[in-house]
Amino acid sequence: MKKRIVAGNWKMNLNKEEATTVLQGVASYVASNNMPADVEVVICPPYPYLSLACELLKDSDVKVGAQNCSHEAKGAFTGEVSASMLADLGVTHVILGHSERRKYFKESDALILKKTRAAMSAGLNVIFCVGEDLHTREDEGQYLFVKNQLKDSVFMLSSSDLASLVVAYEPIWAIGTGKTASPEQANEMHYYIRDQFAENFDQPTADKLTILYGGSCKPANATDLFAQANVDGGLIGGASLKAEDFTGIIAATL
Ligand code: PEP
Repeated sequence: MKKRIVAGNWKMNLNKEEATTVLQGVASYVASNNMPADVEVVICPPYPYLSLACELLKDSDVKVGAQNCSHEAKGAFTGEVSASMLADLGVTHVILGHSERRKYFKESDALILKKTRAAMSAGLNVIFCVGEDLHTREDEGQYLFVKNQLKDSVFMLSSSDLASLVVAYEPIWAIGTGKTASPEQANEMHYYIRDQFAENFDQPTADKLTILYGGSCKPANATDLFAQANVDGGLIGGASLKAEDFTGIIAATL
């Protein structure tokens, strides 16, 4: 069954008290609503709050994701966190290839592929981000841009790896800008991504792939975005920082 996912990416935000309030608010919303069997809710706090999140959500259907992991399994890599350490805590997902990591930490497709392999070896599901910048979109180069991001990374995986892969299409011009891709723009790109997976793997594998939209998604636009045939949920930044906003987006899947 193809999953629909609403995943919150807190980035480097919230303190312990605020984190607790959001986690409890989302857990209580999910517990008191009849969530469809195909819907998964994931919250990705910063590393220091992962233990707290795993503990608070241990009896909840809300899953915990990390925002990064090392490409190495263990060793002398000061400051790094391995995928198996995350799995040990009860973390089930990890966001990789986010445009902020590509831009500020110079993560290449090759490095992101290594991280993806490390995460999958540790049993984590990977939320793999792709998406073009404004200049590329204005030049109508978005399809080639995304194709290249996939070609040099996840298309190198085996088709059995794809069971633990989720793709997030996040046009950089829509992230944190308040500028959302229209439902049609999102659907067109998601259709294209699915088609690329069909070409590189096979159609049944592509049909099962969950493709999320990310970029200024909020309660007011989530219903229209999620109604698109190829939009299987969202990766949510700013609107995941308040339980009320995040649950307003989860409500769009009900
Ligand atoms: C993100 O960075 O993953 C994101 C989607 O951010 P925002 O929702 O704030 O645009």
